[in-house]
This record gives sequence, structure tokens and C-alpha cells, in this order.
Amino acid sequence: MDMRRDATGATEHTMARSLRSCVSCGVAFAGTARAFYCSQRCKRRAFSERHREERRALRPEHPPRACAVCGGLFTPIHTNARYCTHACRQQAYRQRQAPP
Ligand SMILES: [Zn+2]
Ligand SMILES: [Zn+2]
Repeated sequence: MDMRRDATGATEHTMARSLRSCVSCGVAFAGTARAFYCSQRCKRRAFSERHREERRALRPEHPPRACAVCGGLFTPIHTNARYCTHACRQQAYRQRQAPP
């Protein structure tokens, strides 16, 4: 009976390395199955690029402004949006129709 155990619990150091291509710069390098980048520099660059894209996606189109009715800060979707919610817009409309 073969007493040798399989490669269970193998760490990255004992994993077999194979020829891979860097997902960042495309250069061929010898790495483990979990290696995606040829170098730390490529890894950092890919991370920072992803971060930048996330930040860009999260950044609102317009800077937050105060609602003309309740004064609460909101992020306008349109340049000329003045109210945070539909309710505030309706209230402003009603006030305009019947001034106090
Ligand atoms: Zn690379
Ligand atoms: Zn409001």
C-alpha cells in the first residue's frame, strides 16, 4: 500500500509552477495556479486601476446640494434638480400655487 499522501494542504510554495501570462501586462512568467501577475508592480498597478474605476463609478455626477424645501443634502441626478425627493418637489409646487 502506498503511504504517500496526495498534495492535500499544499501551500503556495510547494505548488507546481507553470507558465502563465500576466493579466496586467501580458508577459509570460512561471507562477502558481493562483498567480495572476508577473510582478508585485503589476499586481499593485492592477489593484490601483481597479480602485480608480470603483471610485469613478461611485462618484456622483454632480456635487451634493441642499434641498430647496427641507434643506437636506442630496445628490442631484440632473443639473437643475433642486429637491431631494418627489415629496419635496410636490411641496414646493404646492407652496408656489398657494403662497402663505
Ligand atoms: Zn505583468
Ligand atoms: Zn427635501
